[in-house]
Amino acid sequence: MNRRTKIVATIGPASESPAMLEALLRAGVDVVRLNLSHGPLEEHVQRLRAVRAAAAAVGSPTAVLADLPGPKVRAGRFPDGGVSLMVGQLLGLRPGTGPSDAAMITVDYPSLLADVQPGDRIVLGDGGITLRVSGVGADALSANVEAGGLVQGRPGVHLPSERLRLAAPTAEDLVLAAAMAAEGVDFIGVSFVREAIDMERVRQVTAPHAVRLVAKIETIPAVANLAAIVAASDAVMVARGDLGIECPLEDVPHLQKRIIRHCVEAGVPVITATQMLESMIVSPAPTRAEVSDVANAVFDGTDAVMLSAETAIGHDPVLVVTTMAQIAVRAESEASYAQWGARLGRVQRQQWTDATDRITQAITHACAQAAADAGAEAILCCTRSGRTARAMARFRPTARLIGLSPDMATVRSLSLTWGVTPLHVDTYGSTDELVWFAVESAVRHGLVDAGSVVAVLAGAPDRTSGAATDVLRLVRVG
Ligand code: PEP
Repeated sequence: MNRRTKIVATIGPASESPAMLEALLRAGVDVVRLNLSHGPLEEHVQRLRAVRAAAAAVGSPTAVLADLPGPKVRAGRFPDGGVSLMVGQLLGLRPGTGPSDAAMITVDYPSLLADVQPGDRIVLGDGGITLRVSGVGADALSANVEAGGLVQGRPGVHLPSERLRLAAPTAEDLVLAAAMAAEGVDFIGVSFVREAIDMERVRQVTAPHAVRLVAKIETIPAVANLAAIVAASDAVMVARGDLGIECPLEDVPHLQKRIIRHCVEAGVPVITATQMLESMIVSPAPTRAEVSDVANAVFDGTDAVMLSAETAIGHDPVLVVTTMAQIAVRAESEASYAQWGARLGRVQRQQWTDATDRITQAITHACAQAAADAGAEAILCCTRSGRTARAMARFRPTARLIGLSPDMATVRSLSLTWGVTPLHVDTYGSTDELVWFAVESAVRHGLVDAGSVVAVLAGAPDRTSGAATDVLRLVRVG
C-alpha cells in the first residue's frame, strides 16, 4: 500500500507505551505529535525518546512534532458535577483565579475588562457554549448565554484574538520551544500565530538546531496574513478546532481549501487537523461524515491528516490509524492530482523570485513533465535540506517520490511531505556517484524494479555551481 497522504498522530495516555508506539508506527503513523498543552516538559522529553526508540525498532524515519500551548486563557474551576448555563441567562465574567459558578465566571486574563467590548463573542470549552458581552462594568463584564450547556472543570475561554494582548508565542512557548529543539525534536507547532513575525520569534530561540516550524492557522489575523506566514514557515497546520471558534463554522471548509491550495503551490507541507475521526475516541467505526471529511482533505491536496484525541486518549489508537490509512489510500485513487501540475507551471513563474528558487522550480517542473512522458516509475530527489523533494511534491506526480539525504534530520522531516518515501544515504564526491547510489539505494529498498525508468534530480555535492539542484537524469534501472 503506497499511501501518499501522511498521517500525524498525537500520543497520550492511550498510546505512549513502547509496544503501542511500535504498533502505531507499523500501522502507518509518519509523524508523532506531542501536545505540550498537557503535562510537564520532562514528560514530553521522555515521550520524544520513546518515539525515537520505537522508530529505531521499526526502522522508520518517523518525525516528531512538539505542539506549543500558545496563550491559553482559562476559567476558574466550576463546582464538581459542572454547571448548566441556560440560553438567555445573564451572567458576569471577572478577571481572577478563584472558583467560577453559574452567576460569575472568573477568567485568568488580567486585562479582561480593558480588552473586551460589548458585542464581543466569548466561547467556553470546545465551542459548544457561547456568550455575548452586553456590558463592561468596573469589576466585571456582563454577558448573555447565546448557546448553553454544561460547563465543567476549568474550560478554555476564547476571547476575540484580534484584541487579545497575550501574543503568541508566549514566554512559556519560547522556553518550551528552545528546550524541545535542544532535545532534537523535528517540528515545533506554533499556536495562535497572527503574523509572520510570530514565527520569527520562535526561530530566534530554536535557530541553532535543525528544527522546522509549523504555523498553526487558527486565528482570523493568520488567515489575513497567510502568504507572509507561509513564507516564514516550514510547514502549516489547518487547526480547525480553534479556527472553527474564531470564524463562523461554515467558513472552515473553504478556509481549509484556500490554505491547502496556497501551501501546495508554495511547496510548504500542510496538515489538516482536528476531529477527523472524532467518534472513534469511543466507537470502533467512524461516521460516514468523518470518512468523507478525511477523503475530502485528500481531494483538497493536503500533505497530511492529523489525529488528536483519537490516538491520545481513544479506545483503539491502532484501529484509528489503519482506518485513516484506508480512507486516504482509497481517496488518492480518485483524487485529480494532475490539476496541480497544470496550475503550477503558470503560478510558479509569478511567485518565486530568488534565483535558486527559480532553478529549483524550473527543474522540478521539467522533471514532472519528463517523468510523465518517460513513464518513470519513480522520481529520486537527492536533497540536503529536503527542498528539492518538497518542490517536486508540489506537482503531486503519479511516479513514486523518493527523497534521499545524508542528513538524518532532513530524512525525518520528509515524513511530513506528500508522497515522499525518505531514505538515508551517504555523502558522495560527485554528481555521477550521487545519481548511481540513489538508484542503487532505491532498488535495494525494493522501491523500484529492474528494467523500469526512473528520473533522478541531483546537484553538485560540493555546490560548485552555486545552485541547489541543477541536474535531471532519466535512468533505465539495470
Ligand atoms: C486546533 O485548534 O485544531 C488544534 C490542532 O490546536 P490544539 O488542539 O493544540 O488546540
